[in-house]
Formats: sequence, structure tokens, C-alpha cells
Amino acid sequence: MKIRNKFTVYNIIMLITPIILIGVISVCFLITFIMKYPVWELNITRASLLDPKVFSQALGEFFKNNPTAIMYVAIWLSLCALVMIITTSIVTHRMTKSVEKPISELMKAADCIREGNLDFEVMGSDYEEIDSLCRNFDAMRMELKRAREKEKYMKKERNMLLANISHDLKTPITSIKGYIDGIRDGVADTPEKLNRYLDTISAKAETIDDLVNNLSMFSKLELSKMVFNYEITDINAFLSEFIEDYRLDIEKNGVTLISEISPEQAMTRLDREKMSRVFANIADNAVKYRSQNDPTVTVSSVKRGDGVYISVSDNGIGIDEKELTKVFEGFYRADASRSIKGSGLGLGIVKQIVEKHGGKIWLRSAGQGKGTTAEIYLPTIERN
Ligand code: ATP
Ligand code: MG
Repeated sequence: MKIRNKFTVYNIIMLITPIILIGVISVCFLITFIMKYPVWELNITRASLLDPKVFSQALGEFFKNNPTAIMYVAIWLSLCALVMIITTSIVTHRMTKSVEKPISELMKAADCIREGNLDFEVMGSDYEEIDSLCRNFDAMRMELKRAREKEKYMKKERNMLLANISHDLKTPITSIKGYIDGIRDGVADTPEKLNRYLDTISAKAETIDDLVNNLSMFSKLELSKMVFNYEITDINAFLSEFIEDYRLDIEKNGVTLISEISPEQAMTRLDREKMSRVFANIADNAVKYRSQNDPTVTVSSVKRGDGVYISVSDNGIGIDEKELTKVFEGFYRADASRSIKGSGLGLGIVKQIVEKHGGKIWLRSAGQGKGTTAEIYLPTIERN
């Protein structure tokens, strides 16, 4: 109920209750008065009622003859006053309490927030306005709690990210230092050994380079610091071109590449360079996590509704259902692939680029050993 309406109700109660009670008391007193005192002796006529002087004289006369009647009237008046005082006090107390309670709750809640305690609930109120204030206050508390949890999570993530980066950098650096010491100490005493050592150093340096590049791209995307240059492009033509450029790279690993790209035109807003990175990362995964047995990668696309759906399927090691979404987080690597080289940043980069194009990406896998499909949705542009 609105404050104004509820206060009006209280005022009506404050007015009507004493009227009724005083009325009942007065009737009772009047009846006993009439029965107890000879009121007919009052001798009040219609004329005397109109003349206050005559009326007061008659009353004076009456009370002079019946002195106890004065006490009787005094008791009646005191009772009426008492009824007035009690009812007004009770109603005023209820009225103040009903406003005071939610306000003191809000004050307590504000104190809790100031002290950093967000685990409480603000109760509502019968007053619409105060209730809405309480609900807004509670929503603010929940929002603060969510923000604090997010901050905690981000802090944990940042620490994990730092630990992962240092670990991933430290391993090849330690290795490079070891090989350099080996060369210095003359362990690489033949030209073949020296070449092998140098090859390993070069491979490790490349690993560091890849990781730093991935990291730089990942953080730029996270901070929205990467500039995108979009062009209206037929994604199917783009994919066919990409497949032919990558065919050699893929097939030299013994992987069969099947293209099922739709010949239909599907115009999209693409940053060609970034989208090449998307498909290069996905294709790299399909090759890296391939099956030992007749590895195959199939790229297909189909235009449906307001977009185009592109899928890259492999028959490789697969991903456990529980890990299908986690692999998009930076540095997350599924259990089955831990023995294979990788930083766990590729899909994180892919997801952010796809989303910057207004698209979506998700993975499907029937489980470990049962292959993986990366599916991408990109919105198409209808040209008039
Ligand atoms: P890099 O940063 O070098 O790409 P990565 O391949 O480990 O390293 P992501 O590409 O982000 O990182 O992939 C994350 C994880 O998802 C991989 O470590 C792997 O566990 C899993 N994964 C991704 N693609 C596939 C796939 N086609 N088959 C099986 N597992 C996959
Ligand atoms: Mg990868």
C-alpha cells in the first residue's frame, strides 16, 4: 500500500476508535446516571435549553442537591480522556513502528555494506515506496556481490595466467640455456652434435616466439586494443581460397583434407587477415590432435537463415564433454592433449575474433577418441 493511503487508514482508525469507545462508555454512564440520580429534578424545559444562563442554573441546582453526581461526571470525563490518550498512543506507535522498522533495516544494511559484509538480505515493507527502495537496495547489494566475486575470479585468473606464462616461458628458456652450456662445455664435440644442439635451440626459440605472439594477440583482443579492418567478402570464396593455401601444410602431415564448401555466395563483413588466423588455428588443432588411423579433416559450409554455418570436423583424439567450453579459456588444455605441444591460447583467440565479427563458435565431440567438430556461425549481409 502507498504511504499516503496507509497513513489515511491510520488516521481514520485514530478518529473512529475513540468515537466508538467514548460513545459506548457514555451510553453506559448515562444509563446508570439516569437510574442513580433523579434527573427529572433537573427541570429542563425547551426554553431553558436555549438559554445557557437558565440551563447552567438548573445544572448548578441539580449538582448542589446531588454532590456525588459531580464525581460521577468527573469519572466519565477522565475515562473518555484516557480512551483518547490510549487509542492515539497505540495507533501512533503502530504507525511509527511500521515506518521505523524497514528504515532501521536499511540503515543496518548500509552499515553491513560499509563494513564489507554482503551476505544478508534486505526485507521488504508493507509500504510500496519503501518496499521498492528495499528491493533496489537489495539489487545493489547483489550487484556489488557479483562484482566482488568477478573481481576475485579475475584476480585468480590473472595469477593463474601469470603462473602459466612464466612456466611456459621458463621451460624452453631453461632448455636453451642448457644447450648453450653444453656447447660452451664442448659436449657438442662433433659438427652433427653441434647442428642438433643449434636446431633444438632454434626450435625452442620458435616456441617462445609463438607463445609471445599468441599472448600479445590474446591480450590485445581481451583489452579490445586490436583494430579490425572489415571488408564485405564472400565467405565461401574466402574459405575455398584458404583451403587451397593450406592444403599442402595439412596434407604433408598425412591428413586427408575434404572440402564441402557451398558454391553459393554468402556475403559477410570480414577482416580477412584475422579470419585466416581463426581457420589456421582450428586447422592446426585438427592436425595436431589427429587420429593415428587415417586422419581426415572436413571443412564444410552452409548458408541458413540470416547466416552461414562453417564446420571443421576431424576424426582425432576428441574432447571430453565437460571440457568442450573450458578449452576456449586462455591456457586451458584438455586432459587428452597434454602430451602434445601447445599453449592453450589458440581457441581463446579464435573465439574473440569470431565474436568481434558478430558470430559464435562452439565445439562438438562425441568424446575422447571420437573426433571433434568446430562450428562457426557468421551473420551474412543481404546485398540489394
Ligand atoms: P595453441 O595455443 O598452440 O593453439 P593449444 O592447441 O593447446 O595451443 P587451443 O588451440 O586453444 O590450444 O586448444 C585448447 C585445447 O583444446 C587443446 O589443448 C586441446 O586440448 C583441445 N582441442 C582443441 N582442438 C581440438 C581438436 N580438434 N581435437 C582435440 N582436442 C582439441
Ligand atoms: Mg591450438
